[in-house]
Amino acid sequence: MSIKDLEFKRELAWYSMQDEQKAAASDFSVEYIDFLNKAKTERECVKELTAEAVKNGYVNFNDVISGKIKFEPGLKVYWINREKALMLAVLGSKSPVCGLNMVGAHVDAPRLDFRPNPLYEDHDMALVKTHYYGGIKKYQWVNVPLALHGVVCKKDGTKVIINIGEDANDPVFIINDLLPHLAYEQIEKKASDVITAEGMNLLIGSIPFASDDKEESKGVKANVLNLLNQKYGITERDFNFAEIEIVPALPARYIGLDKGMIGGYAQDDKVCAYTAFKAIIDMDKIPEKTCACYFSDREEVGSMGNTGARANWLENFFYELCNAYALANNDKIDAGVAARRSMASTAFLSADVTAAFDPNFSEVSEPMNTAYCGMGIAFEKYTGHRGKSGASEASCEFFTSIATVLDKAGIPWQLTEMGKIDKGGGGTIAQYMTDLGMDVIDCGTPVLGMHSPYEVTSMVDVYWTYKAYSEFFNKY
Ligand code: MN
Ligand code: MN
Repeated sequence: MSIKDLEFKRELAWYSMQDEQKAAASDFSVEYIDFLNKAKTERECVKELTAEAVKNGYVNFNDVISGKIKFEPGLKVYWINREKALMLAVLGSKSPVCGLNMVGAHVDAPRLDFRPNPLYEDHDMALVKTHYYGGIKKYQWVNVPLALHGVVCKKDGTKVIINIGEDANDPVFIINDLLPHLAYEQIEKKASDVITAEGMNLLIGSIPFASDDKEESKGVKANVLNLLNQKYGITERDFNFAEIEIVPALPARYIGLDKGMIGGYAQDDKVCAYTAFKAIIDMDKIPEKTCACYFSDREEVGSMGNTGARANWLENFFYELCNAYALANNDKIDAGVAARRSMASTAFLSADVTAAFDPNFSEVSEPMNTAYCGMGIAFEKYTGHRGKSGASEASCEFFTSIATVLDKAGIPWQLTEMGKIDKGGGGTIAQYMTDLGMDVIDCGTPVLGMHSPYEVTSMVDVYWTYKAYSEFFNKY
């Protein structure tokens, strides 16, 4: 063995990829871009993935719970939580008590929401008050074309889906920034104060309601209400309950002359959601251990709430899975005990993006311990802030066992930490899974400009993330 063999080297995955692999990565990126344009919100993501799963033979897990469909190896199930979180699983030949191989990504993304009473007019412009969701740099969201996605439940009990700004013929919406000519004071402010949360009001209309009736309300707000009522049958009262999300109206597309990168909104964490989804959908053998993909909501605000990763919906899944297995196999074990054992033996890849090294901001990364675009899926042994606070850490044994599976398959991977120590930090759903006794490691695609309206990934990293999750399901 030469000294060279003792060293751990990292390089662009492009150098070692065969032509077929490059072509496969390119083909994969086409589907991925299409997905980004179809599924910008958590609800849309759950809807798209479920529809695709059903096309691939997945059945409703509720039918297994009720006994209508029998638990058997190879059965593929989906389970939806309030249209915002989703579980997909391929049942294995072994009892779930032996543990699952599981990948978990989140399907929510930073955005702006309509406030409960949003609509007003000011100097003949109709505006919408917003409340931001997740960690955004507010100044990035002004003078960017925005679209409306959401649901409104009407007084008559019906629900309407709102979607304006994605079709080429649709109008878009905007939050105006101040022109530089009059920004002498604004430009001196701290970046966090340049645009304030209360100042993020969305321009939604400018033509007044025309009516000959003197009694009737006039003005631009009245006209917006009229247009929304004509299109969706909704009234101002319905805003109180509505979930209307404001997202960038920018379609995803390739970046660079060589088209090596992909730009698009919400790649945190749609990139891991999509690659994990494709990995489970493409499984063609009955696994020994049950394999599952968990798509959670509300990660960007701390994972709390009944659709977030901290909700016991996840534990319920294990309970129902073990119960269904016991019923089908005349197993006398208590389902609660079985579920605890199952969770404690589960291997979980916390599939979330990480920060990629950015030459424009090299000062925040420690070059030896950062992820680079184009070097494959990035593993983060721990997340957290300042001295590993507020995070779990994967064990040496578990991390090694995963990396060994990828090495055997020739899948390029890299390691990372979220920036220099004491520069900042971040968290994922990993710690909530370790609370349940699972072995967990964070691994996902490096992203440039995370949480901005237009995030960037490398085409090969997306592909190798997919291959890594796939290998985990098939070989771990
Ligand atoms: Mn994320
Ligand atoms: Mn995030």
